[in-house]
Amino acid sequence: MRIVVTGGAGFLGSHLCERLLARGADVTCMDDFLTGSPRNVEHLMGNPGFHVIECDVTGFVHVPGEVDLVLHFASAASPIDYLRHPIETLKVGSLGTLHALGLAKEKGARFVLASTSEVYGDPLEHPQRESYWGNVNPVGPRSVYDEAKRFAESLTTAYRNSNGTDTGIVRIFNTYGPRMRPHDGRAIPTFIRQALTGEPLTVAGDGRQTRSICYVDDTVEGVLALAGSDFEGPVNIGNPSEMSMLELAETIRDLTGSSSPIRFVDRPADDPAVRRPDTSLAAERLGWHPRVDPITGLRRTIEWFTAELRGGRAEADAGGSRG
Ligand code: NAD
Repeated sequence: MRIVVTGGAGFLGSHLCERLLARGADVTCMDDFLTGSPRNVEHLMGNPGFHVIECDVTGFVHVPGEVDLVLHFASAASPIDYLRHPIETLKVGSLGTLHALGLAKEKGARFVLASTSEVYGDPLEHPQRESYWGNVNPVGPRSVYDEAKRFAESLTTAYRNSNGTDTGIVRIFNTYGPRMRPHDGRAIPTFIRQALTGEPLTVAGDGRQTRSICYVDDTVEGVLALAGSDFEGPVNIGNPSEMSMLELAETIRDLTGSSSPIRFVDRPADDPAVRRPDTSLAAERLGWHPRVDPITGLRRTIEWFTAELRGGRAEADAGGSRG
């Protein structure tokens, strides 16, 4: 299999590249390092089946030779990143998706779009099923990400219906694990960094808003199960074990043995009140179930962050290579 992963030097993309290479695939990672870093894939560089092309997929996407699968993962994903890069985020969701779909069409390859639970916005249906259309503010600050992904889903569907491109859409729910940037602003890396450095854990609002967190290995398995099927989706991939943000902060504080206090800070605009995937479709169509419970996943992630912070590498990665 010859596989192209856009955004392959990011958090999820690098885990995908690693897993695909372990399965014997030839992998081309296309990344402009806006929020990712060559360091995420440097351990793969010696593998003759691994190729890195530094490029912005909103410009032009070309890969010589045959391609069997395109995994389109390029896009800023953390609120800090997409609020810092609003136009880039809209461009990668629209033009970047157009170019990645064009590549798949040209090569007769299967295409998988990394969409997000954010297409559900601040949901009025709970848990979220794929049939729910969402509740998104089209002019709110988060819209640069949410609407870009909603457009990307629409474009992917149009390529399937009009061009016969073999496509799949995966709606990924909050995923965490090693290689997240300690300063990327997402809750888990933030709480872990704060707990390990003795800073207060900053919980937004009253901390009662919920998230359902999925360990990266499970998400990668789900994405690859969709990629290996002919299912068009959209399909939710996430771990339904829902917890409040305050519970998450306290759990991380306990697991790190930290004595950091909790500090309540302002809640961002349009922050979803609840988030939990209904994963029955993934179970039925892909035979996929999350396997790593939150405590085990958080322990592994904390171990990784502890080593990063000890090695003094966390500060250097504050904004991705370019961001
Ligand atoms: P990330 O920021 O770590 O990775 C994104 C990668 O895309 C980075 O390496 C970045 O440099 C690259 N990129 C951005 N714009 C680009 C462009 N124009 N051209 C080429 N490369 C570009 O984020 P992540 O958490 O790994 O997310 C990866 C994908 O998964 C995103 O599409 C995101 O929307 C989706 N997703 C992630 C989560 C999650 O919880 N991590 C949840 C839902 C969806």
